[in-house]
Amino acid sequence: MATTRFLVVDDSATMRRIVINTLKTIGYEDVVEAGDGAEALAQLRSHEIHFVVTDWNMPNMSGLEFTKAVRSDDKLQHLPILMVTTRGVKEDIVEALQARVSSYIVKPFTPPVFKEKIDQLLKLVPQ
Ligand SMILES: [Mg+2]
Repeated sequence: MATTRFLVVDDSATMRRIVINTLKTIGYEDVVEAGDGAEALAQLRSHEIHFVVTDWNMPNMSGLEFTKAVRSDDKLQHLPILMVTTRGVKEDIVEALQARVSSYIVKPFTPPVFKEKIDQLLKLVPQ
């Protein structure tokens, strides 16, 4: 695999910028963006993506609905999905894990925490 291509999904352009800059800081330069879950599904169907970082609260299709759609698609279901959200209460985390996000980070996050989660998940992906 030449590079690990990321899909960053957030309705806030500022937040997408922060996530993308953090990815670059930790060595991941190959990034595609989407502004909601529906756009994200379209991006997954038109690009080869290896890792998804998604927000939860978004218009049109939320990160939770998006995660469920990915997990019920034969071609996409194994993709690592890291949810990055302000929703930090226990019930939310449980709901996200039940929808089978791979991991979960509550905003604001630090680059080392972000890197650790990504590295952990990439280790689990068959190369
Ligand atoms: Mg949002």
